[in-house]
Amino acid sequence: MSDGIRRIVALSVLMLGTGLLWVAGRTNGDAEKADTERKAALDEARERAAQNDPRLKGAYRYDRGGWVYVHLEGEPAAVGFQHGFLLASEIADAFPAIKAQMTHSTRRDWDFFRNAAKDMLWPKIDDEYKQELQGITDGLNTRSGSHLDVYDIVAMNAFEELPDYYVAWLDKREKTANAPNLKSPGNCSAFVATGSWTKDGKIVIAHNNWTGYMAGERWRIIFDIVPKNGLRMLMDGFPGVIASDDDFGINSDGLMVTETTISQFEGWDPNGKAEFIRARKALQYAGSIDEYTRIMLDGNNGGYANDWLLGDRKTNEIAQLELGLKAYKLWRTKDGVFAGSNWARDPKVLKLDTPQFNPNDSETSPNARRARWEQLLDENKGKLDVELAEKLLGDHFDTFDKKEAANERTLCGHVDISPRGVAIWAWGPSYPGGAVQGKASDSTMAQQLRFFARMGHPCGGDFNAKPFLASHPDYAWQEPYLRDMPAGPWTEFHAGEIPAPQR
Ligand SMILES: [Zn+2]
Repeated sequence: MSDGIRRIVALSVLMLGTGLLWVAGRTNGDAEKADTERKAALDEARERAAQNDPRLKGAYRYDRGGWVYVHLEGEPAAVGFQHGFLLASEIADAFPAIKAQMTHSTRRDWDFFRNAAKDMLWPKIDDEYKQELQGITDGLNTRSGSHLDVYDIVAMNAFEELPDYYVAWLDKREKTANAPNLKSPGNCSAFVATGSWTKDGKIVIAHNNWTGYMAGERWRIIFDIVPKNGLRMLMDGFPGVIASDDDFGINSDGLMVTETTISQFEGWDPNGKAEFIRARKALQYAGSIDEYTRIMLDGNNGGYANDWLLGDRKTNEIAQLELGLKAYKLWRTKDGVFAGSNWARDPKVLKLDTPQFNPNDSETSPNARRARWEQLLDENKGKLDVELAEKLLGDHFDTFDKKEAANERTLCGHVDISPRGVAIWAWGPSYPGGAVQGKASDSTMAQQLRFFARMGHPCGGDFNAKPFLASHPDYAWQEPYLRDMPAGPWTEFHAGEIPAPQR
């Protein structure tokens, strides 16, 4: 680690230190003050000791454009430790929000999720990821003094798959009385294009992440990971989670990866491998579309079922892997475009895995956005590049109402201002969710492990929590966690980037 980096790490440690005081319980003023001072001294001593921890060798972080960039490297346990340590304040902040989200929607307590993580997911996790997850726990606890254990971290890693896939499946199977209305989420708008569709004839890939603003505003990490085994990865991600999970990533063997979730998907295999493990493994080890497909299919549990949009810059080929549980389909081409906005299209997948989904209902968010992608991509055939992709991710044309109006049917989603919500995802009227950030890259950038990313709505619009909560009491339960989501600038990141010295 160079002196410059060391200074930056030390600086961020100092700045973060104050945010990491976890004062539990409230007594009278004096005792509280003494307790706070004692904890501060303890934290300081802990920080000093941790700075010399060999597991942190080579790791660093910096903040830019609303994002937090972390560089992690080495053995799985070290990569995890660095992740937990450098992002301790972000994990400590995100964990209670995710816990509230998972327990609120499912009406299950946290122990339920810990047990699912321990008994169902953990035994099938590859050793290297067990070590990395334990490393995150150790790094987090070393830095913050928190007492989370590895099953808390595993359950958090599965926040996309346990509530809306596993619990939905379990409620149906056990005929749970008064079961909550759980629906697989509709996350994201994306496309991948190649050949005569793009300006330079090579691959362009772009994605915006749709999710609740509570989680989405925290989905602000850029991970640059150099693992001991496998490929180098640059991806966006969530604090404490080992997969990109929204997903957008590129690896050093030329694979470019994104996805959009399959709406109204039903199914779960308790004997399968967690989706977050397969997705991380595929980005870390796949150097081709075929390898990627093989890893995602191996132990497919049905969790967080996606249409994966892939590109291989070595061959200029792109693919769409529609990964259902009972059926799947792979399309591939060296001259074409694949778009995604949360709809399945293979007749077998539609029939077997998404029996409720109606591909002909032009009023729903997935189908309205599908129509818009088709228009925009056709209009821009031969012109697609990263700059244009960024613009398309912020598009606000509603194909159902045939007018410009940001809402739940536009590529850049703003469901908080829609009186309809998105019923097929169980998002009620004015649900505080939509497009929370965007990313774009192309073959040339992917060769250098580079991409552009924008935090907040890709159109540049801001979300303000206070007035929203004041006028939407239905979402008062989110009040402790829901924050403003100001849009940042489109910002370039590349693997191995060393930030300019901070002034
Ligand atoms: Zn927008």
